[in-house]
Amino acid sequence: MIPQKIIIFIDFDGTITKEDVGESIFRNFGDKFIVDKIIDDLLNDRISAMQSWIELCKSIDKVDVILLNDFIYRMEVDPGFHNMVRFCDDHKIQIIVLSDGFDYYIDMIFNREKLNGLKYFSNHLTISPQNKLIPEFPYYDPLYKYSANCKRNHIINNSRDEDFTIYIGDGNSDKDTALYCDLIFAKKSLLKYCEKERVSFSPYKTFDDIINKLSVFLARKNLKKRHQAGLKRREVYISE
Ligand SMILES: [Mg+2]
Repeated sequence: MIPQKIIIFIDFDGTITKEDVGESIFRNFGDKFIVDKIIDDLLNDRISAMQSWIELCKSIDKVDVILLNDFIYRMEVDPGFHNMVRFCDDHKIQIIVLSDGFDYYIDMIFNREKLNGLKYFSNHLTISPQNKLIPEFPYYDPLYKYSANCKRNHIINNSRDEDFTIYIGDGNSDKDTALYCDLIFAKKSLLKYCEKERVSFSPYKTFDDIINKLSVFLARKNLKKRHQAGLKRREVYISE
């Protein structure tokens, strides 16, 4: 039986954009030594995702807003992403962007690319009158450490058990989260994580790789739900 709805959950930084915008901002405007230390602590599980953002924001004393906006404006979107959005529109596949970065730059980039119709969830960033970066975490879940914006909860809240869910991602905040979906497209550190955890996934380099693979699945009407994803979802219902 074909599931009623296909939903793609997709990471933003380094997945929709070519570079990790959040990390690049801190590498460009912060102290390199401090930023390296915070990111190393995060990648080695010594601090949580939320703690890393708080410390990164603190590492910049005063930000020059004009330079910051100019820097963000030069961050490029993966050239294949517009094709991907069109493909999903044509096939009635919903896209929901899940970012552990900040709305401040996502809004700017989506506006520039005329992608503001895309639904997204992220952390919130404002700049104080003293030019300090103030992060807020409206979707933080203290029981979940892998992303400050709890991507897992968005997957559970925005899909039903019978839907076919797809995850596309590249990095640290996608680890574990991706396992709640039926089909995983992974590159870079998410790919390594899936290999290490022996989770079935599709490696990809470009959005064309994903479109080609999905075209085959859709033509064959061959969308098999991943049993392990169902179990992971159920665990959440039982524990809460
Ligand atoms: Mg990423």
